[in-house]
Amino acid sequence: MKSISVVIPSYNEQDNVVLLATKVLEQLEGKYDYELIFVDDGSSDATLENLKKLNQQNNRIHYLSFSRNFGHQKALRCGLAYAKGDAVISMDADMQHPPYMIPELIEKWEEGYDIVYTQRLDTKEVGIFKRTTSSFFYKLTSRLADIEMEEGTADFRLLDRKVANIINRTGESNLFIRGFIVWMGFKKYKIPYKPEERHSGVTKYTFRKMFLFALNGITSFSVKPLYISIVLGLIISLCSFIYALYAIYNYFFKSGVVDGWTSLLVSVLFIGGLQLIILGIIGEYLGKLFMQTKNRPDYIVSESSLKEV
Ligand code: UDP
Ligand code: MG
Repeated sequence: MKSISVVIPSYNEQDNVVLLATKVLEQLEGKYDYELIFVDDGSSDATLENLKKLNQQNNRIHYLSFSRNFGHQKALRCGLAYAKGDAVISMDADMQHPPYMIPELIEKWEEGYDIVYTQRLDTKEVGIFKRTTSSFFYKLTSRLADIEMEEGTADFRLLDRKVANIINRTGESNLFIRGFIVWMGFKKYKIPYKPEERHSGVTKYTFRKMFLFALNGITSFSVKPLYISIVLGLIISLCSFIYALYAIYNYFFKSGVVDGWTSLLVSVLFIGGLQLIILGIIGEYLGKLFMQTKNRPDYIVSESSLKEV
């Protein structure tokens, strides 16, 4: 019998984990050798207690608990590192990724696809804010990051063992998994789905988390943003040159013109702002290098019912 691991990052999902586990088990019980791995991302509610109860009832339901909140992507990566299955499915804990799709994911994998991923169809269940920010994110990353990211393809997918191994062996800290999946290649199959409404609780992806996620995505995959400084530099130089010609013309052919204070101020402020943006971009890359050289772990597991493979 083939074995399937299901990895579920959970952050303050006390009222969702039990229901999700039940629904996932309905799809797998008797058909596959399975394990469920909940990664408790430093929840402050009863998520961990509920997971421990689940583990007592069924020893194939496992939990890994972080020492603090490290973020969804780290939780996902941790789950992948511990998963032993021939295929690993990752999904959210809040029931937005419908468990009834699991057999379909597995079916396509059995047909020979290495990565079976899903694409969220934007329906009214997804809030307008989420829809617009997410669409903007995919467009911007695809443009700036040199990888073709399809809109609505989040972290609900199945990975073959060999794909999971590659991710596990990658030494890159703060790995942007969504982009890495595209970058790796392999035989892929896409299944569209209608997301459900969040079963309970509120979204854990705050605007801040989404912004950092997007920034990491873009700067992880390309150095294109660094070119922005060159292009802007060229444009500004050209403008300054034209302005200089205009000033010289005024100096010679018009008498008593002492304009300039406004334009001086405006250009100083403008160039100052521009320099800050560019410094920020450079700083982001430098920061990445800094974090990588420190070689810190991406996450810290404080308690677990599993051993790392
Ligand atoms: N999550 C996590 N750590 C975080 C934020 C989110 O493990 O810091 C989990 C969360 O519990 C859920 C999944 O990541 O299982 C997706 O988060 P959420 O549903 O809040 O995001 P949304 O669906 O609103 O994008
Ligand atoms: Mg959600």
